[in-house]
Amino acid sequence: MSRYADRCRNLASVIATTGCETAILTHSASVRYLSGFSGSFGVLWVSVVGAPILITDFRYDEQAKDEVEDSFDIRIVSGGWISNIEDLVTSVGGSVAFESEYVTVSEHKALKEAFPQLSLVASTDLVGRLRRIKDVKEIEGIEHSITTAEAALQRTLVGIDWTDRPSERRVAGYLEAELRAGGSEHLPFDVIVASGPRTSLPHATPSDRSVLLGDLLLIDFGARVQGYCSDITRNFVIGPPQDWQVVLHNQVLDAHEQACAAIGPGVLCRFVDMVAREALVAHQVDQYFGHSTGHGIGLEVHENPSLSQRSEQTLEVGNVVTIEPGVYLPARGGVRIEDDILVEPSGFRRMTSLSRALIEL
Ligand code: ZN
Ligand code: ZN
Repeated sequence: MSRYADRCRNLASVIATTGCETAILTHSASVRYLSGFSGSFGVLWVSVVGAPILITDFRYDEQAKDEVEDSFDIRIVSGGWISNIEDLVTSVGGSVAFESEYVTVSEHKALKEAFPQLSLVASTDLVGRLRRIKDVKEIEGIEHSITTAEAALQRTLVGIDWTDRPSERRVAGYLEAELRAGGSEHLPFDVIVASGPRTSLPHATPSDRSVLLGDLLLIDFGARVQGYCSDITRNFVIGPPQDWQVVLHNQVLDAHEQACAAIGPGVLCRFVDMVAREALVAHQVDQYFGHSTGHGIGLEVHENPSLSQRSEQTLEVGNVVTIEPGVYLPARGGVRIEDDILVEPSGFRRMTSLSRALIEL
């Protein structure tokens, strides 16, 4: 059995739990995970019996043949996929499962109208539960993505003249170009560069503000290699740090290290979040930490499991998650330290290798 046929077979066991024999997958990351096909339009038909079928259009004819193993049937269609699956629907009879997170209301309506006799079974986490456990190849992809991102950041830090008061946008553009030059596919997200008081905005868009002497500088960035994302945040100071900046950075670093140490198989995701939050309570800055502690990464930059206060999920060997506590002091400045962590049988392995110190530029 090959890699993708194996994945489809694993999915078939999940499909069986929905009471269906077939699933229709329309989400591009699900389609890529199950078939290897990376085109922007692809629908996958996976059945408990029979070969999986990839439906795409003429633009992807060659690419589909290149990327997809022989054990898949490829169907090149025109005029949309729904009008081209009548024979498949007839063959399965009763019901088909779909990913309720991704099928749009209009697709659902169109399917209902085209096949009124077909029962559409909304399923959550259909492919997600497979995707969150990474195999060796996927872990290699993420490692490669991390080293690509780290090298691009290093080149950016030495390539920019920090005495020249570069704008946040210029720093972001420089890093984005280095990420691409270093081999990244389209970036998993726009690079975040925030300086001075703007570091208190957790998802700041780079602005025209010049990075000035004495500023904190927060950079959140990632690459995509072989489809796999990395997601890292580091913090810098222009010139010698002030005491409050060092204190703030140490508080966040403490929360970050404690949360990492809590990671292991069988651990509740919300427990890891709680550990980070409790560390910030001890430093009396927890009220300035408004987001969750981390998230899974893989073919998408935000995927399961979620390390939030409300998460019911449990960490498993092979999960790759971020740990990214932050403290954002309004109008003053913020720090977030984000690493990519692999859950291993014995606990965790930090995949990111950049220093977590507050670095003086
Ligand atoms: Zn990030
Ligand atoms: Zn993140």
